[in-house]
Amino acid sequence: MRIFFTRLTFFVLLFAPGFGFGQTLLHSETPNPYVKIQIGNLPIILSAPHGGEMPLPNTQIRRGEGLARGGSGFVIGRDTGTEELTELIAKAMEKKWGQKPYLVIAKAHRKYVDPNRPPEIAFEDSNAKPVYEAYHQALQNACRNVQKSFQKGLLLDIHGQGSAKDTVFRGTQDGKTVTLLRQRFGEAAHSGKSSLFGKLEAKGFQVHPNPFDGKEQAGFRGGFIVQTYGSHQGYGIDAMQLEFGINFRLKDAREKTAATLVEAVTEYADLFLEIPKAKQPPKPNQPKADRSKDQADQPP
Ligand SMILES: [Zn+2]
Repeated sequence: MRIFFTRLTFFVLLFAPGFGFGQTLLHSETPNPYVKIQIGNLPIILSAPHGGEMPLPNTQIRRGEGLARGGSGFVIGRDTGTEELTELIAKAMEKKWGQKPYLVIAKAHRKYVDPNRPPEIAFEDSNAKPVYEAYHQALQNACRNVQKSFQKGLLLDIHGQGSAKDTVFRGTQDGKTVTLLRQRFGEAAHSGKSSLFGKLEAKGFQVHPNPFDGKEQAGFRGGFIVQTYGSHQGYGIDAMQLEFGINFRLKDAREKTAATLVEAVTEYADLFLEIPKAKQPPKPNQPKADRSKDQADQPP
């Protein structure tokens, strides 16, 4: 029944009036109930591969036999609170700009599938394969569409780490996954006061590396997602892994973490991205029947 409903929704979306060719392409990924996808219109992509809690039915838990444990190796523990935090970041961006970022969130628990690993070690039971593929298809589509529309973009891969509770670690393979940013705007865009981590520190976050031109911490240098979609690859999107300590991810802290990050991304975007102007919301005295759905959804 669930699958039927999801497919039905998919076809309704696909053939809805006014659904342009470009948007139809965006929906070419197979909907999967274990991956939450939001099609955006900002040059920003949010990814959260490790926050999911849902069990996959009839699926064996990964055992990781013969694989190195911990760090960038085999891990089945989830990044608590990152699913909720990423949703809040997306909402804060929408409120800020009146437009949505792209969003890809794993709902399935990491013990079944790890989207931040290469396919050969990301899952063991073939029942988990469609989840992995849906996650990466969505990221690929998002990157291609952002590249096509803006010729640049920012992918933030949101994680949680247990090493330093008050610190956010940056993972870019020491600048490799933000190659385009550095080429276009110089090293200061990556490692200076005007870099995203420079902005975050100015707003009170404890960040690493600090100084910003220092080496990234082993284990947090940026995993499979930023290595696959970063701008050293063909997608042309600058990708950063953000590893938040637990004090940023606790229930009562998430809202502030999201708000501060979005303030920093806004300042970063003023310098290095192109944020499209939102359509003007309708005037309050305009009859409701004149509002298109898009406009009605905009904040006043
Ligand atoms: Zn993680």
